[in-house]
Amino acid sequence: MMGQRFSFDVKATDGRARLGVISTPRGDIRTPAFMPVGTAATVKAMMPESVRATGADILLGNTYHLMLRPTAERIAGLGGLHKFMNWDRPILTDSGGFQVMSLASLRKLTEEGVTFSSHIDGSKHMLSPERSMEIQKLLGSDIVMCFDECPALPATDAEVAKSMALSMRWAQRSRDAFGDRPGHALFGIQQGGVTQDLRAESAEALKAIGFDGYAVGGLAVGEGQEAMFGVLDYAPDMLPHDKPRYLMGVGKPDDIVGAVERGIDMMDCVLPSRSGRTGQGWTRHGQVNLRNARHKDDPRPLDEACECPACRQYSRAYLHHVIKSDEIIGSMLLTWHNLRYYQDLMAGLRAAIGAGTLVAFVADFHAGRAQGDIEPL
Ligand SMILES: [Zn+2]
Repeated sequence: MMGQRFSFDVKATDGRARLGVISTPRGDIRTPAFMPVGTAATVKAMMPESVRATGADILLGNTYHLMLRPTAERIAGLGGLHKFMNWDRPILTDSGGFQVMSLASLRKLTEEGVTFSSHIDGSKHMLSPERSMEIQKLLGSDIVMCFDECPALPATDAEVAKSMALSMRWAQRSRDAFGDRPGHALFGIQQGGVTQDLRAESAEALKAIGFDGYAVGGLAVGEGQEAMFGVLDYAPDMLPHDKPRYLMGVGKPDDIVGAVERGIDMMDCVLPSRSGRTGQGWTRHGQVNLRNARHKDDPRPLDEACECPACRQYSRAYLHHVIKSDEIIGSMLLTWHNLRYYQDLMAGLRAAIGAGTLVAFVADFHAGRAQGDIEPL
């Protein structure tokens, strides 16, 4: 099995949306795919087998967090990230670039890379395209992301252009450092903010280098859904049609549906797991706050159509109780539900694209949310 190449097949299209399969030596990834985020080698509050049971084919791990603690070298010494965290299916790792920019303090950006202080203990570290490739290789990541820079917003066109040009030089260095690793993929990241010409320039630079997949980067950083969809109306089509397209850090269910309609194949977001830990449930009828007192006598499930343990085996009253009491099972059950809801949404999108009924599926999706949550008893 090892040695099998990384490949992507588009099986069907509906409008600009694509149904596909990414094949890797660690298993197939059905696209459009949603990747739960396992920041520190765990999807918080979930066992890996439970994450798999929600329907996830792939997880995302964070280079920045893992390089600081427990360190990539330690994980490599213990057999790699898959073994370390007991997840034998594909893993995508980010490059650390985005989190260095947003989380680390005292960072210094040069042509070579970024030096920064750990948010954990203040220790000094460096990330460069070469070091990021090395770390992601030590982790054993199946899909490796280029090291790039994403400018903080708001930024002028000149600042975005300068940052994009640096990211393209780093993309070439990432490609050179990655080398030839059969079965492992390297994705380039398109930058250029919300400026169409810069997006086109970035896409051309990446295509000239050549990658196994392409991410649309620099979105979901506070520009708002309208601006994001505006970029997605043209940016994915600038990238090769025969490679997967990944929208990083997205998002809410309606962001995901809109991105899939615009030709995105892969997404990741902490939202379903993070909001599960704060008592927020995502359902076909929108977001439900389980902390709300209206649930305290409610024997009905969070979502009567959901097959997850939180919905099959527990009432809204119980979920309300354990969340209000800060019981660990509250985080476990709501995270499970939210991840299952996201995966069911992806399965619905895939089925609709395959059947050529995406327009009707999307109309039903919006109608369900417009209807709102079930009435209090
Ligand atoms: Zn559920």
